[in-house]
Amino acid sequence: MKIIYNYLSLLTLLLLFNVATTKAQDNGKIRVIMIGAHPDDCDQDGGGTAIVFAKMGYAVKFVSVTNGDAGHQTMKGTALAKRRFAEAQEAGKRFGVTYDVLDNHDGQLLPTLDVRLQIIKKIREWNADVVVAPRPNDYHPDHRYTGVLVQDAAYMVAVPNVAPETPALKKNPVFVYFQDGFKRPNPFRPDIAVDISSVYNQKVHAMDAHESQMYEWLPWIGHYLDQVPQGKTEREKWLGQRSAVKITPDVHAALEKWYGKDKAAQVQNAEAFEICEYGAQPNDEEIRRLFPMLAKKEN
Ligand SMILES: [Zn+2]
Repeated sequence: MKIIYNYLSLLTLLLLFNVATTKAQDNGKIRVIMIGAHPDDCDQDGGGTAIVFAKMGYAVKFVSVTNGDAGHQTMKGTALAKRRFAEAQEAGKRFGVTYDVLDNHDGQLLPTLDVRLQIIKKIREWNADVVVAPRPNDYHPDHRYTGVLVQDAAYMVAVPNVAPETPALKKNPVFVYFQDGFKRPNPFRPDIAVDISSVYNQKVHAMDAHESQMYEWLPWIGHYLDQVPQGKTEREKWLGQRSAVKITPDVHAALEKWYGKDKAAQVQNAEAFEICEYGAQPNDEEIRRLFPMLAKKEN
């Protein structure tokens, strides 16, 4: 009897959870999940857009598929993973997003079924409308396989019999790629460009939380450690200059499409995204609904 009672309680709880989830789906707010390989990837490639979404009241989550326990010149293992996690939490606060770090080893990521299921669960739990990930063309295998893993999740998130312990999404989200400069087999295509000029300093301040990356590891592996200023203010300013991404002619054309010529001409910093062929295929109206910062075109 007790077992039946417990079973019924569980059913009630599940039902309540379902109602709550449905309500979350119905409140009209866009839910965005950005998935990168390392604790700092989403930050650099989509951090400005995340801030703009968050300021508009929309929910954004960053996920790092690895725990970052390899990329450092003096630290490694658990101690490094702990430091990376703490930095990610601080960055998340500064961006205004929640930041999850999956416990997979850095530098050893493979597109396995196990990691695919981890990603499917994260997308479902977040009830994502938009999923952002790297393209599977990149110099770093962790970035490349993160792209593959998210592509492999792009249909499965809607299949109830896959990872059945996490309810499947009722609709397939829109999947988009972060901008990159890789040319083969095909260059990045900026379908969407977001003006992040007004939040660029906040983006840099949030990236500054990743001390072990921005001021230690990346300068060491890139042979520019001697250029990192000592003072906190000086090095954040340096990071801002170093991280500025040049607006390419293609990205400028996308800015003109979404914001109009006059406004596009004033944009100083932008982040661009390419729509993935898998997942839902949005038309322009749907893109403006999912990226509401694009909604006002001036001319
Ligand atoms: Zn990375």
